[in-house]
Parts: sequence; structure tokens; C-alpha cells
Amino acid sequence: MLLLKKIAAVLFTALLFCINFLKAQSLENNVHIIYPLNLKDVVIQDSFWSPKFRVWNTKTVYDVFDKLEGKYEPDRPDLIKEKQSWGRTRNAFLNFDLVAQGKKDINTHDGPPWYDGLVYETIRGASDLLIQHPDTALEHKIDGYIDRITAAQAADPDGYLNTYTTLTRPDKRWGTNGGDDKWQHDIYNSGMLVEAAIHYYNATGKTKLLNVAVKLSNYIYTQMGPAPKLNVIPGHGGPEECMLKLYELFKQHPELKSKMSVPVDEDQYYSLAKFWIEERGNYGEADGSHARKTDSSYNQDQMPVLQQQTIEGHAVRATLLATGVTAVAIDSKDPRYINTANNYWNNMIGKRLFITGGEGAVADGERFGADYYLPESAYLETCASIGAGFFSQKMNELEADGKYMDEFERVIYNNLLSGVSLSGDHYFYENPLIATGHTRWAWHDCPCCPPMILKIVGALPQYIYAYDSNGVYVNLFIGSKANISINKNTTIALKQTTQYPWKGISVIEVNPSSANPFTVNIRIPGWAQNKENPFDLYYSSVSDPVSLTVNGEPVNVAPLKGYVAITRKWKKGDKIELNLPMQPRLISPNDSVETIKGKIAIASGPVIYGFEGIDNPALNNYTIKDNSVLQISYSPGLLNGVNVITGKASGVNNDQTNFTAIPFYSIGNRNQISPYKVWIPEK
Ligand SMILES: [Zn+2]
Repeated sequence: MLLLKKIAAVLFTALLFCINFLKAQSLENNVHIIYPLNLKDVVIQDSFWSPKFRVWNTKTVYDVFDKLEGKYEPDRPDLIKEKQSWGRTRNAFLNFDLVAQGKKDINTHDGPPWYDGLVYETIRGASDLLIQHPDTALEHKIDGYIDRITAAQAADPDGYLNTYTTLTRPDKRWGTNGGDDKWQHDIYNSGMLVEAAIHYYNATGKTKLLNVAVKLSNYIYTQMGPAPKLNVIPGHGGPEECMLKLYELFKQHPELKSKMSVPVDEDQYYSLAKFWIEERGNYGEADGSHARKTDSSYNQDQMPVLQQQTIEGHAVRATLLATGVTAVAIDSKDPRYINTANNYWNNMIGKRLFITGGEGAVADGERFGADYYLPESAYLETCASIGAGFFSQKMNELEADGKYMDEFERVIYNNLLSGVSLSGDHYFYENPLIATGHTRWAWHDCPCCPPMILKIVGALPQYIYAYDSNGVYVNLFIGSKANISINKNTTIALKQTTQYPWKGISVIEVNPSSANPFTVNIRIPGWAQNKENPFDLYYSSVSDPVSLTVNGEPVNVAPLKGYVAITRKWKKGDKIELNLPMQPRLISPNDSVETIKGKIAIASGPVIYGFEGIDNPALNNYTIKDNSVLQISYSPGLLNGVNVITGKASGVNNDQTNFTAIPFYSIGNRNQISPYKVWIPEK
């Protein structure tokens, strides 16, 4: 009997292995690498986005730097109290100055341990913005910050740089000796420094910060890795992708090494990225060597990453790690990485996605909730949604599937934009789908979200299009001009004109360098094809069809992997016209979602709508019929210009009331704190 059991167990294991192998094989077949554009090759000219970029370029980026420098009037009790007791506000740059002066172990540090990281993230976002909107004053400001960062590093002979650890616990670098990198963020901050340096170099050609980043990376490589080096992994995901970017920078531009003042071995950075991914869940050798404390899903360390089936733990850490896993999958085509990236994304989008693109249901631990746990009052940190957006975009690079950009688009028109006020200087940390008295703040005890917002909006222009050697992909409907060299023979100038998301028509003018055959892939969003979610977590339908023409001739709309591929000999002036059905639609959740069962939400195109008390005094009593007639109209004077959706709701005595819904992202921008909700009970 025992023998039979053993044989059965062996067979079962073999079967599992085969299933996993076949699954990995089939996922490998999905791989089709496409590339985002260089930021210098695309410019946004758009009636929806350009006014927002003007605010972010001229106000938000300065606002975030100023506040990191301590120039703010606190509007939250914790920071008001801090200012009263200190006689000043916290200043991230003082930390660098103290370290530069050789101070150590002085038990004083402004802001949370990840304050260095937030400075670096802001430099990254600002650098990208500089490419689209050159601004010498901003560049000069950043140069000044970089001088102070450089001086801080110069105080350490190894090039180690993390102000919190140096100033409060210098013996606990990387969370060793009883420290904890989940709190200290040594590795996270280092990764963000690397990324900032790359982006600043790309924007300006200046290598000063890059030298700092490489020096630190070289030091990290001597410290952690396979035995006898330390078994240390990032307490906060993100550095994995940063190290891969550093590797790619020097791999693609070996000539840059001669401009550096420090040695460069890009393979070291790649091996660090892989070590940090693969060492999660590995706590040392069987003989007890190379040991690390057993850890939890909070930072995705509960089991080896390449065996993880679901996306768990702190939602920002998880989505940034997932982006890094996907980046390595793109570089290596390793089926284990492809498999894990798919596992994460399928679980996140299929079972844990909020309709606004929010992720991370649970406040305690800022973490993903269980499958189908999607309460309206969920936490939904701005950073988590942005992390999910970056992850979806990276999956689109890996597989050239439009469904990933559907989810990127859901993020940018909803949970991203809600994170920053229309005025550009107040921010949401949480983005619940129902709230009373939820207001944006000027500055937060943990102001991680404003830098993250700058990171994704800075990168946004390069995600409008993608390309491979056979053609281009139109991923987003944003008015823009782009130049794309798809191969040696063909450079394509694209010009897109649109009033999306307020109107459904986008016109794309295709101007190849010479008449040539290639493919233009047009993304057809799932919601326009009655597929609100690829896993049917949500349902919706629209009755109007999608229409697509080339030079006025209809093209059959039967998308494959989310795109209609139009292959022809393109010539200058060819025009593609896409018309998406922007009629308002009702969305309902899958029956498995108990928390919003029997409720409906309203959307038009990628924009999810919400009901704010200021427009809807009887909001709490509303019910809406699933066949309600909905009207949509543009209101130029409201909230910088938005489409408003109106219709009839039933009130408490079954009386009919007119309701007004506005884009979710624009909630909380009028001078009145108002309750709001997204999901309304269905009558
Ligand atoms: Zn945040």
C-alpha cells in the first residue's frame, strides 16, 4: 500500500511537472516583444492631456521638490504637530547635507527612511518631463540637488548612500545586524537612485548622478549575492527593474563607459536584478549557510518568486517587483519569468482589480486582498495603481497584446488622475470608491504618491505607440506626433488627432519615409467589444459598433490579441480613422464579487464615473435601473471641461430624481467636501 502511495505521489509530481512545463511552453508562444518609443521621438499635442501637462510641468514638479525641501504649510495633524515641535518642517536635503558633513549615528533624520528614494523618484519624473518641456530653471534646480547627493556619497569611502541608515543605524546597512530593509529601504532607495541617474542622463547627457549610481551599484555588487556574499533582498520591490535598466544602458551604449569616472561592468547589475528576484523565498542553504531570516508575503518573500501563483502582499512592492520580473522576462525569454509575470497579471486583473484601476484592497499592510474581495471603501493607494499601470505596460512589451494597454488606460484615466488635484498641488494617497469627507492633502507623512505620479506622467508619451521591425502599434488615443524607425529602411512619422476621451474619433496620419509595406496595429479596447475585463471580473456592453477606415475605405474590425492589424503599402498622407463607441455604459461585477453584488457603475470609454454629493443631494437613496437611459454631454466650464453623464435614479419613495455623474478622477475638486460613490444599487 505504502509503495502504491509512493508510486502515485511520484506520478502525480511528474504530471504536475508536465502540466507546468506545457503551460510554460504555451506562454512562451505568446511572447512577441515590442518596444516603447524614445521620449525624444514623441510629443503630445492633445486637448485633454496637454493642459494637464502644463500644470504638471509648471506647478506640480516644482511643488513636489519644494515640499521635499520643507517648503510647505502642513495641513495634516501629524505634520502640523511635527512643525510645532521642531520649529520647522522636514527637509529631505538636510539629510544629505548631514551625511556630507560626515555625521553618523546621530539619531536624527527628516522624514521616513525612504525620503531619499522619493527625492530620486522626483528627479526621474522631472527628467522625463524635461525632455518634453525643456526648462533650464528646473534643470538648474536638479543640478543643485545632485551636487548635494554627490557630496553625501563622497563622505563614505565605499560609496554607500542611504541617509536614514547612516544617520540613525550605520551598523545595520541593508537591514543586516538586526536591522530590517523592509523599514530602512536601503536597497529600494539605491534602486531609485540608479533609475533617476539613467533618466537624468537621458534627458541632459550629464553623467554626474550616473557616476554616483554606478559607484553605489558596484559597492552593492560586492556586498550581496551568492555565498560568501550576503543573502539580502530588497525590502521594497522596484530595484530589480532599475538594475536591469542600468545593465541595458551600458549594454546598448558601451561608448558611455569611457565617459564615466567609475568602472562599469553591466553584467554585475543584471546578476543583482536576478539575484534579488530569485533569492526571495530562499532563506539559505540546507547546511545553514548563506542564511536570511524567514520572511512573509508583505514583500513577496513568502516563497520563491518563480513559483508564486498569485500577487500578494504590499501592493506597491508587489506591482513594482512584477514589473521587474516582466523586464527580465523580456530580456531573457526565460519561461519561468514569463510564467510568473503571467501568474501575477492574471491574478491581479482577473480577481483583484477595482473598476478604477485601483489595486490593494486592504489598509492593514497596504496589501492585496483575497480574490474577489473588492469593497467600495478599499484602500487603493495611488502608488499601487500606478505600479499596476507600469506592470501592464511592461506586459504589453512582452506579448504585444492590447489587453494590457486596456488596463494601463484604465489606470491613467481614473486612479492615476484622481491622485492629483486639478490645481496640481494637492494629492490623494487612498482612492476608495465610496467616501465621506475624503480630501486631498498638500503634503503627507508618507508623500510617496506625488513622485510616483510624476514618474508615470513623465513616461506616458513613450507609451502612446510601440513598434517592432514589422510595424507600429497605436496603443493610446492621445493627440501626438511621433517618429519611429522600425527598421533600416523605414521611418514612420505618425500624427494623431483626437478629442478622446470625450469623443470617440481618432485620426492617425501615417507618413512613411518612403512608400513601404508595413503593419499599423490599432488597439481596439475591450470595453468597445463588450469585454470590460479579460477574465469577466466585470461586465458591460455597448450597442454601437467600432468603425475603422483607411483613406475612407472600411476595414473589418476583428481584432487579434487586442489589435486590428492593417498591412499594406503605406504612403505619405494615408489616414486611418477609428471611431470608438463612447456612449455611456453600465458596468456590473462578476457574481463572485460579494462586496458589490447587485450594484452598477457607469463609464464612457476609459473613464469611470462617480456621483458626488454636491450634484446629487439624495445620493444615499439612489437606485438605478439596469436599462436606464443615460445622456452624455460636454460641460466646458465644469472641472476644466468634462463629459457629464445624466439620467434618472429612483429615490427613497420610488420617486424619480435626476442624477449627475462626473469622471471619478475629478471628484473632490470643488470647494466643498462632499460624499461620493461609484457603485449604485441596481433597482
Ligand atoms: Zn504612495
